[in-house]
Amino acid sequence: MTENFNRIWHQHAADLIQRGIDGRMVIDGRRWNAADGSLFDCISPIDGKVIARVARGKAADINRAVASARAAFADRRWAGQPPAARKKVLVAFAEAMRDARDELALLETLDMGKPIKNSLSTDVVAAARCIQWYGEAVDKIYDEIAPTGSSALALVTREAMGVVGAIVPWNYPMLMASWKLGPALAAGNSVVLKPSEKSPLTALRLAELALEAGLPEGVFNVVPGFGHEAGEALALHMDVDAIGFTGSTRTGRRMLEYASRSNLKRVYNELGGKSANIVFADFDDLDRAASTAIGSMFYNQGESCNAPSRLLVQESIADAFVEKLAALTPQYHPADPLDASTVLGALVDETQTQTVLGYIQAGIDEGAKCVAGGCRALQETGGQYVAPTVFDGVKNSMKIAREEIFGPVLSVIRFKTEEEAIALANDSAYGLHAGVWSRNIDRAVRVSRALQAGTVHVNQYDEDDITVPFGGVKQSGNGRDKSLHAFDKYTELKTTWIRI
Ligand code: NAD
Repeated sequence: MTENFNRIWHQHAADLIQRGIDGRMVIDGRRWNAADGSLFDCISPIDGKVIARVARGKAADINRAVASARAAFADRRWAGQPPAARKKVLVAFAEAMRDARDELALLETLDMGKPIKNSLSTDVVAAARCIQWYGEAVDKIYDEIAPTGSSALALVTREAMGVVGAIVPWNYPMLMASWKLGPALAAGNSVVLKPSEKSPLTALRLAELALEAGLPEGVFNVVPGFGHEAGEALALHMDVDAIGFTGSTRTGRRMLEYASRSNLKRVYNELGGKSANIVFADFDDLDRAASTAIGSMFYNQGESCNAPSRLLVQESIADAFVEKLAALTPQYHPADPLDASTVLGALVDETQTQTVLGYIQAGIDEGAKCVAGGCRALQETGGQYVAPTVFDGVKNSMKIAREEIFGPVLSVIRFKTEEEAIALANDSAYGLHAGVWSRNIDRAVRVSRALQAGTVHVNQYDEDDITVPFGGVKQSGNGRDKSLHAFDKYTELKTTWIRI
């Protein structure tokens, strides 16, 4: 019975691939091949097989997509619609995503290797909720009259920016796209989305669903391709008003360079992380602290920007805590992502596998103690699997503590005092998330305040909601995705003085 149930997703996958996955770009409401006809293979990390051939967009395609987005913005076919009308379309778009749940989840899992269970229950659900939430928000935002004291009126209004370029990574392809699309579209902008070359499939399907839901042609265009080709062309384009970027800190730097070399477009960077999760000895439920530390770390194969990859444990409980971690880790052994019971799937590609294995070797070479995992797994499948790995005895100066690994590797760093914990946590180029586990309320508040991070989790690490901002400080980026604050990224404030 279980065996049959688990084969169901393999059967769905085989059917989908046999029908053919459309890898052509979406511009001006139509499917297109690349102007020069180039294609790239979309390889599933589940088994190394080619599942689709995708149009390889370059500057000519980006030019066409930006022109289409600009035309749509200029004639106000979307921006000119009343907020309630935009809301109706976005809610219908979200509904269409839910109706296509199985297909979207399957594409996401085949494309980047995450467990089908997560694609179904988290990625599609959260992405649809995001689109719906911004749709429903847009007719509830008021403009302002400034309290100037003058007899003239000063109206402060929010206006759509124009053409937004969205460049997103491969770890949550659909969700990261939705975090840009939701506020950008709701505010009335046109969008050109460049998905990652490692996971372009759901973005293309989203564009079709949006059109079916009534989004006018040209408002949402998708050009798949490589970073140094389509990505660079979009970020350098003189007619793009803002870039909503999510990806590595290295590429985020380039976004700023491109803007300074072109039209000084707005750049909003959501970048990498090396989040510290601090467990104090006074916390009374160490089993929950340990299972959350592991679960949050290995979720999405550790390929999450906010993964709590530095686990700071107070010395007096560290031996017992590490034992718990080592005992829990095998529950996350990698398995077939299309099996509905799998909790840890495949890494995105061979390059990522080699990067993660390289970090594991660096940890060993620098003297950290590997207490779980530490090797490749399921090699016979032809896919990309790495055993979840826990290092004890990590120093914050080691490479595995300083650099973002973006794989299932947890580093345990021991500390003695509260001051030392804060200093270690903040001794990082990044500042995305952080965790604090303590039953001492004074300490929990004190430490949360002292941590340099965009989000601090106290006595949990898994709360998340579209209503709260998501983003980082330091080299984890600027700006915030999600929540009403995201509208700040995709609107410009205009002041109009009116003498009466
Ligand atoms: P990446 O920077 O390699 O690529 C991200 C996107 O940028 C891709 O679409 C890629 O094609 C494009 N790109 C790459 N080079 C480019 C260039 N020179 N010009 C223009 N575009 C270019 O990142 P990745 O490996 O896809 O994603 C992983 C990173 O994303 C991690 O660092 C992770 O922490 C980060 N991330 C951050 C958040 C957040 O909200 N802060 C969320 C998810 C992922």
